[in-house]
Amino acid sequence: MTDVHRIEFEIDWPPWHVAAYLLPGDEPVLVDAGAPGDRGWGELTDGLEDLGYQPADIDHVLVTHPHTDHDGLVGRLVEAADPRIYTPRSVQERLRMDTSRLAERVERNARAAGLDDETVGTYVEQAIDSVERNREFFPPACVDVPLEPGQVFEAGDWTFETVHTPGHQRDHACFAAETALFAGDQVIEPFRAAALNVGLDDGVFDAVSEFYEGYRRLRGRSFETVYPGHGPVFEDFEGVVERSVADLDTLVSETAETLADLEPATPLDVEDARTEERYDYTFFETVGALGYLTDRGRATFRVDEGVRYYELA
Ligand SMILES: [Zn+2]
Repeated sequence: MTDVHRIEFEIDWPPWHVAAYLLPGDEPVLVDAGAPGDRGWGELTDGLEDLGYQPADIDHVLVTHPHTDHDGLVGRLVEAADPRIYTPRSVQERLRMDTSRLAERVERNARAAGLDDETVGTYVEQAIDSVERNREFFPPACVDVPLEPGQVFEAGDWTFETVHTPGHQRDHACFAAETALFAGDQVIEPFRAAALNVGLDDGVFDAVSEFYEGYRRLRGRSFETVYPGHGPVFEDFEGVVERSVADLDTLVSETAETLADLEPATPLDVEDARTEERYDYTFFETVGALGYLTDRGRATFRVDEGVRYYELA
């Protein structure tokens, strides 16, 4: 297997860096497209130069998921080099979505989770901003090869399998190539990425169930080297998957224990009792964990004026 080179970009939130990978060859391949803006472009250009390349040399770009630290330079690369762009078809569809329909869905789910009017409005704005920002950096018309789950495809000298691994982000794909896994944010050594899935769009209640499903699709496979979006390149694929699943188990059991003390309770009540400080990601994880408990028959909810009240089954 040819060498895989890592290019790092600074980002403004923990863990403060994101990685893209250059696979050299007659037709160089880039996996993920760095952080956006002039800073990201400078880091990409410098990183490639250290390896004897420039942006115009890139022939293929694979994008794991539509978060700005992974798709940030797709549009600029297309302008500079016109590489073939590969990403799951559902990423392209998500980037093309009608944001007024998105607003309706987020509003309904935010109310169901127990948020007040003002906070509902904030989440609606945030959801629309997020789609628009990603669209700016990754115009959906750029996608040349929309990938289906499981699709095997060739890019340059490489053959990749698309493994659909939702949970951190609903459309997220890992790319498997022989004994290497380009893992995006699905399998990271120092921590498990948050179960953000879709924010408060439809699918928020499925975030944790889908994250388990993503790990189930990877479990039992053997990879010698994992190239993640964050944290170091590592070899203990199986160990890190086990630990990530155990971490989801902890989230679910903490959520169930908290619900036991409060029931009946809204997702917001459970979140505020479960965590010391509410962050978007902890809130989405609480909502997802309640959805998982419901899927497993361990909790039920009734709806009163659009708000969900959960109880253990
Ligand atoms: Zn990331």
